[in-house]
Amino acid sequence: MPRVITRKDHILRFEDFDLQPEILRALTDLGYTEPTPIQEGTMDALLRDKDMVGQAQTGSGKTAAFMLPILDRIDPDSKDLQALILCPTRELALQVADASRSFAKYLDNVNIVPVYGGAPIVEQITALNRGGQIVVGTPGRVLDLLRRGKMILSDCRMVVLDEADEMLSMGFIDDVRDILKRTPWGKQTALFSATMPDPIKKLAEEELHTPEFVKVASKEITVDTVEQRVAFAEGRDKLELLERFIQEMKPPTMIIFARTKIGTQKLADDLKRRGHKVRALHGDMGQGARDSVMIAFRGKRIPILVATDVASRGLDVSHVTHVVNYDLPDEPEVYVHRIGRTGRVGREGFAISFVANKEKPKLDAVERLLKRKIQRWGIDEPVQPLTPEQIAIAEEIEAAEESGEVDVLVVENENSQQGSSEPRVEGDAPKKRRRRGGRGRGKGNGGEGSGSGDAPVAVTAD
Ligand code: AMP
Repeated sequence: MPRVITRKDHILRFEDFDLQPEILRALTDLGYTEPTPIQEGTMDALLRDKDMVGQAQTGSGKTAAFMLPILDRIDPDSKDLQALILCPTRELALQVADASRSFAKYLDNVNIVPVYGGAPIVEQITALNRGGQIVVGTPGRVLDLLRRGKMILSDCRMVVLDEADEMLSMGFIDDVRDILKRTPWGKQTALFSATMPDPIKKLAEEELHTPEFVKVASKEITVDTVEQRVAFAEGRDKLELLERFIQEMKPPTMIIFARTKIGTQKLADDLKRRGHKVRALHGDMGQGARDSVMIAFRGKRIPILVATDVASRGLDVSHVTHVVNYDLPDEPEVYVHRIGRTGRVGREGFAISFVANKEKPKLDAVERLLKRKIQRWGIDEPVQPLTPEQIAIAEEIEAAEESGEVDVLVVENENSQQGSSEPRVEGDAPKKRRRRGGRGRGKGNGGEGSGSGDAPVAVTAD
């Protein structure tokens, strides 16, 4: 039977995992007060020495989820490589290494070495020779170092495959298998992936030993912290719509996602011509150019980034306030991943998707995944007054709450933009979230609640 961890349960605190005091101290410094659901599920499995598969996006806190158990079990007296983390991109490898160093800052003699292509291998070999117990690397460079005999995996006890679906789509899966073959039998393996395409399921089946599954429902990110809207526009009209969106919302920091590298560059050029401070980020750019864009965006020197999905992977920018899907992605899971760039742990965000007629099936797929309709962004739409029926229900709720008869009721109003203004009352189930009728653009105004009120945020199963 799956074990369901909901946010309200939060059975475990970081202290309950019996982590070393030095690690707990670092977490306090970082302001991590309680584990996120993926951390709770993952740490529980890894510290019981289980293999595990985690389905979670960047932004869910997965780095600490796998890294804290690793750090807790590294032997600082041995300089041997004890843990290997494989990541699809150099950006993600550096980000994971940086985060890990911040978790390890009070641990003596624990070294974390990032290795990746596009940088001199000699320096990385020197770092490895000094003794790196934890290596975070991209598959190509790791394999290169292994083939040269500069990296030895005979004492590697823990392996993490981070963003496995991305490693697959970038063509690294054979390298990953090759690397795994060189690791000792009996090691512990954790695999993280935002989506679970068949080749990843197969990899997990073949390489992991009776893994536990930890899954964070996409609702956690999308429902709790990101206000979502759609707007309908065809072709070039999208540019005008975007201009209107920028003028209206004045987003302080925004990522605009486009599907193709060419489309990304063109959109960035168009916006630049219109006087916006904007840069593009896509795979046709050289590593140096990509790095400089990332640094400028992270440093808040450019407010608008136009990016492809792949190029923006591993871009951990916690200050993004707005996400625009200029095109909808083919996979609905990617939508969730994109909008997870905003509304990072504990913050609120706003995401809007521009949908052309031919993209409507993709919007349907997203809404099916989210199990709800996304409201239209209605700049010109008047705020609808409450219907007499809605007012009656609102009064009913208030009266019931005041009399202490029920915890909270749910009022569904998600279909209002389809012309149905009829709210649905779901009875007096405890712990239900209440939502009022009415609509508009304000935060918390419709659209955020799951409506089901029972959003499980993590599920683990043997
Ligand atoms: P990740 O998914 O690992 O890239 O983490 C996303 C962001 O959430 C990073 O900025 C982390 O520093 C932050 N974060 C991760 N875990 C926690 C936590 N338990 N409490 C607060 N912030 C966290």
